[in-house]
Amino acid sequence: MKLAILSRNTRLYSTRRLIEAARSRGHAVRVLDPLRCYVRIAPGALAIHYKGRALKNFDAVIPRIGTHSAFYATAVLRQFEMMGTYAPNPSDGVLRARDKLRSLQLLASAGLDMPVTVFGDNPDDTDDLMTMLGEPPHVIKLNEGSQGTGVVLAEKRSASRSVIEAFRGLYANFLVQEYVAEAQGADLRCFVIGDKVVAAMRREAAAGEFRANLHRGGTASQVELSPQEERVAVRAASVLGLNVAGVDLLRSARGPLLLEVNASPGLEGIEAATGVDVAGLVIAFVESRLSSD
Ligand code: ADP
Ligand code: GLU
Repeated sequence: MKLAILSRNTRLYSTRRLIEAARSRGHAVRVLDPLRCYVRIAPGALAIHYKGRALKNFDAVIPRIGTHSAFYATAVLRQFEMMGTYAPNPSDGVLRARDKLRSLQLLASAGLDMPVTVFGDNPDDTDDLMTMLGEPPHVIKLNEGSQGTGVVLAEKRSASRSVIEAFRGLYANFLVQEYVAEAQGADLRCFVIGDKVVAAMRREAAAGEFRANLHRGGTASQVELSPQEERVAVRAASVLGLNVAGVDLLRSARGPLLLEVNASPGLEGIEAATGVDVAGLVIAFVESRLSSD
């Protein structure tokens, strides 16, 4: 196959692992910075150029699109799709996953459970909004945050209101959730490829912290998922239209609750915690999709 990886940085662990896995399986692979791709849109004359040259005949493109410049990068990804390149995570799926509110709405429509979530715009509605949610503690999070930044725990109604007002003052999109205490500062990262969870880890928050993100000092260990957790993770990825996804779950008294679905999940934490060659499995999945056409 001739493969492209859309990534801003060749040196990132995940990008390097994908390059390595593709090469060791005999494929040609090129990393493209999405911000250096420029495109022509015209019927029958679609084109993508890169540093002065036309990009042509890529069989597959693997998007590794971060939070920044996602709008531009997904437009480039869509152009690849329009030109017949297979993307395991298509642009629509990547865009859905980026928006926590939209994702949660789609997942709830599919009957999947999550921490109760509210959002509202007008300060006059804040009291009733909090009543719709229930008693604190509340978790307030920025809609497009990642790696645990922009996620705040408010123990009291007054604190919750202050954080909401602060976020509004910054014109930030945010959502407010019930705090799932039973999770005890741990979450599950389920790495989904196609219709399987290929690796899973339990992340545990550092002392005095409720966010289990590795970037927030959390520690990870391999975990055995229940059949229900596995089903929920696979279904969540498929509802958003993703074949490669990091699905985060909380273990709660009422079963697994979805936190979010990441369309460019990191490989370093999960490969280290589980010993699974996740990069190799991503490439193998792309191979299987291309050979089945
Ligand atoms: P991010 O996209 O920034 O990682 P998350 O929504 O995944 O944001 O939240 C970060 C971490 O905070 C989670 O991994 C989890 O440990 C904790 N957390 C998030 N929401 C809740 C919640 N409603 N109840 C309990 N813990 C939560
Ligand atoms: N970015 C994730 C975190 O901070 C690391 C887990 C991953 O590899 O995606 O939790």
